[in-house]
Amino acid sequence: MHHSPLIATIVAGLVLAFVLGALAHRLRVSPLIGYLLAGVAVGPFTPGFVADQSLANELAEIGVILLMFGVGLHFSLKDLLSVKAIAVPGALVQIAAATLLGMGLAALLGWTPMAGFVFGLALSVASTVVLLRALQERRLMDTQDGRIAVGWLIVEDLAMVLALVLIPAIAGVADSAAEADGQGAGIGGVVLLAMGKAVAFVAFMLLVGRRVIPALLHWVAQTGSRELFSLSVLAIALGVAFGAAMLFGVSFALGAFFAGMMLNESPLSQRAAEESLPLRDAFAVLFFVSVGMLFNPHILLTAPLELAATLGIILLGKSVAAFLIVRAFGYPNRTALTISASLAQIGEFSFILIGLGVSLNLLPQKGQDLVLAGAILSILLNPLLFKLFVPNRPETLPKPADAPSKPLVGDLHPTSLHNHSILVGYGRVGSMVGAGLRLAGEPFLVIEDRKLPAAAALADGAEIISGNAADPKVLRAANLVAARRLFVAIPQSFEAGQVVSQAVAANPDLRIVARAHSDAEVAHLRKCGASTIIMGEREIARGMLDIAFERRHA
Ligand code: AMP
Repeated sequence: MHHSPLIATIVAGLVLAFVLGALAHRLRVSPLIGYLLAGVAVGPFTPGFVADQSLANELAEIGVILLMFGVGLHFSLKDLLSVKAIAVPGALVQIAAATLLGMGLAALLGWTPMAGFVFGLALSVASTVVLLRALQERRLMDTQDGRIAVGWLIVEDLAMVLALVLIPAIAGVADSAAEADGQGAGIGGVVLLAMGKAVAFVAFMLLVGRRVIPALLHWVAQTGSRELFSLSVLAIALGVAFGAAMLFGVSFALGAFFAGMMLNESPLSQRAAEESLPLRDAFAVLFFVSVGMLFNPHILLTAPLELAATLGIILLGKSVAAFLIVRAFGYPNRTALTISASLAQIGEFSFILIGLGVSLNLLPQKGQDLVLAGAILSILLNPLLFKLFVPNRPETLPKPADAPSKPLVGDLHPTSLHNHSILVGYGRVGSMVGAGLRLAGEPFLVIEDRKLPAAAALADGAEIISGNAADPKVLRAANLVAARRLFVAIPQSFEAGQVVSQAVAANPDLRIVARAHSDAEVAHLRKCGASTIIMGEREIARGMLDIAFERRHA
C-alpha cells in the first residue's frame, strides 16, 4: 500500500466531518461541533489515525480563500466604503481593548509585557471562516449588519498583516538593542513598507484587476466551455490570493476578497462565478477539522482558571467592547448585538500570531495552548451567543447599503389578510405572477428573502414579509390557514418542497401552484403536496413552438 498523507487527510477529514456533522444535526446541535470533534478524532491527542496537521492547515487556507472570494462577489467598493466610518474605528478600538485585557491576564500570569501584547493581539482577531459561516447561516450577509461585520473583519485583517511584520521587527530590535547595533529605526521602516505594500495591492486591484478580471471571465464565457469557465474562476480566486500574499505581503483572505469584489460590478460574471464555487463549503469544513486537530484536552485539567479567563476575554471582553462602540456610533441594539456575537470567537489569525510569538521566544508555550483551547471553545460556544443575544432576522427588511441606519420595518407582523394569495419569491417569475394578481384585483402578499427583490415588491405596492419562506415563523405570519392560494415561485426545489409541505400541513384546502425545472423536481413537489406544478423548461418549449407557428405573439 502506498502512503499518501494528502489523500488520507482530505478523506479522513471530510468523511469524519460528514458523519459527525450529520450526527450533530440529528441531535439538533450545530454541525460545527461535529466538524470540530472530527478534527479532535484525527488529531494527535487522541488514539488512532493521525492526519497531517500542516496539510490540514493548508487545505483550510484554501477554504478561507474560496469563502472570502465568495464574500467579495457580494461586495461592491461602495458597500465597503459605506461601512468604513464604523468599521475602522470599531475594529481598532476593539483590538486595543482585547489586547489590553490580554496584557492584563498575562501580567497576572507573570509574563512579560511583550508576551502579553502578542497574547492579547491573538485574542483580538476573529476568524474569517467562523464569522462568515455565522452570517451566511443567518442570512445576514446582504444586510447592513452583515456588511459592517465584514468591513470590520477586513480592518482586523489589515491590522494583523501589520502585526505579523511588526512582531518579528520588535523582537529583532529587542535582540539587536542588546547587541547595540542600532537597528531601532528599522521598526518604522518595516511598518511603512508593509502598509505601502497593502496600499499598492489595493491600488493595483482597483486600476488593473478591475478591468482585467471581468474581461478575462467574459472572454472565457464566450468560449462556451463550462469547464474552462469554472477553472478560470478557481484560477482567479486562488491565483490572486496567492499572488497578493507573495508579492504584496497581504493575507490570502484579503487577496481573495478583492479578487471577488472586482467581479461584483458585472452581474453576469458574479452569478456565474458564484455557481462555480462548489468546493468552497467542503474546504471551509476542513478549516474546522484542522482547528479540532490542534486541541489538546490536557489544558482543561492543567490550567482551567487561566483558560476560563482567556475564554472570558474572547466571549465577554471583546463583545462588550464591540457592543459599546457600535452603540456609541448610534446604531440600534440589534446591530450592536449582531456585531458583538459575530466577533466573539478567534481562529486562524490567532494561531498564526501566537505561533510566531512562541517561535520568537516572546511568550511561553502555555500561551499557545491557551489560545488554541480558547479558539475551539469559543467556536463551539459562538452559535449559542447568537441564539441567546441576537434575535432572528426574518423580522426585518434588510436595509439598502446607503440607507440611514434605522430599520425600515419593525418586528414580524402577522398579516391581517384573509382569503388572500401568498407569493413566495419575487424574482423573474414571482414579479410577473404578482403583476397578474394585481391586475386581477386579488389581495396577496409576498415572501422574499433578498434585499433587492423585496424592495421591488414594496415599490410595486405589495405587502411583504422579508425572510426565508421555509422558516415556519415566516410562513405563519403569512396567515396560511386563512389563505386561498400559494404560489411557490422560487427555483430551489428543496426549499420549495419544505414550503409546500408546511403549507399542506397548515391548510389542506390551500391551492398550491409550484415551480420546477426538471421531472424529478416535479415528482418531488407533487409528493410534498403541491396541487399544480409548472415545469419552467416545458413552458419555454411550448412558448417557442407557439410563437414559431404563430399561435401566439412574443
Ligand atoms: P427568479 O429565479 O428570478 O424567479 O428569482 C427567485 C426569487 O426567489 C429570488 O428573488 C430569490 O431571492 C427568492 N427566493 C429564493 N428562495 C427563497 C426563499 N426560501 N424564501 C423567500 N424567497 C426566496
